[in-house]
Amino acid sequence: MESGLPIVEYFHSIQGEGAHVGTSAFFIRLASCKVGCPWCDTKESWSPTSYPLETVEKLSLQVLKAASQGAAFVVLTGGEPLHHNLNPLCNAIRKITSIQNSQVMPIHIETSGVDKITGQPNWITLSPKRHAPPRTEVLGRCHELKVVVHEKDDLIFAEEMAKQAIHLKENLFRSAIKSTKPLEKPLLFVQPGWGHTKAQDLALEYVKRNPQWRLSMQTHKWLGVL
Ligand code: SF4
Repeated sequence: MESGLPIVEYFHSIQGEGAHVGTSAFFIRLASCKVGCPWCDTKESWSPTSYPLETVEKLSLQVLKAASQGAAFVVLTGGEPLHHNLNPLCNAIRKITSIQNSQVMPIHIETSGVDKITGQPNWITLSPKRHAPPRTEVLGRCHELKVVVHEKDDLIFAEEMAKQAIHLKENLFRSAIKSTKPLEKPLLFVQPGWGHTKAQDLALEYVKRNPQWRLSMQTHKWLGVL
């Protein structure tokens, strides 16, 4: 078991992308990623040994402080957060926020989906990669599918991922005994690679022709905030 988690940074800001854009959130960026996307904008997070290990107690206290200052949820991001077992951290966050507040802090995870899910997140943002496709389990459980677009083949990949995710959710729904909840399909986003004009045009034209997809822009970068 890990004695702590390698942490690049943590900060209170707004969620800049996807379904919860514009909402107050506390981010914990975990180090380590073996996925190796050439266009990655957090390459500094790839090495797990370049950062100090932080205890789950310290991290959960930071979450509690952010919650008292208005953060609506915590986002575990990276790097690839699911390279780590997130059970101890998520348990500690839930425990401390349930003791101190009336409401347990929701936990969101941003993942490429290459590892199994730990931590029982309340929200899974899956950002799958063409060169390292996600595990079926993550595709079937994601709440939000966000595909980064640089070229046309990324849109074909996005459609294939959406088809598989919806199919898996429908199968799970059918097999659930007396499910009282309606079928929840994942929200679909295409997000142009940052600073890539051709990608922006591609994504914009795509969502204009495919209204089931939404455009996700990295608003925090436009604003110049973390
Ligand atoms: S999965 Fe995310 S952190 Fe890892 S290389 Fe790709 S973009 Fe970077």
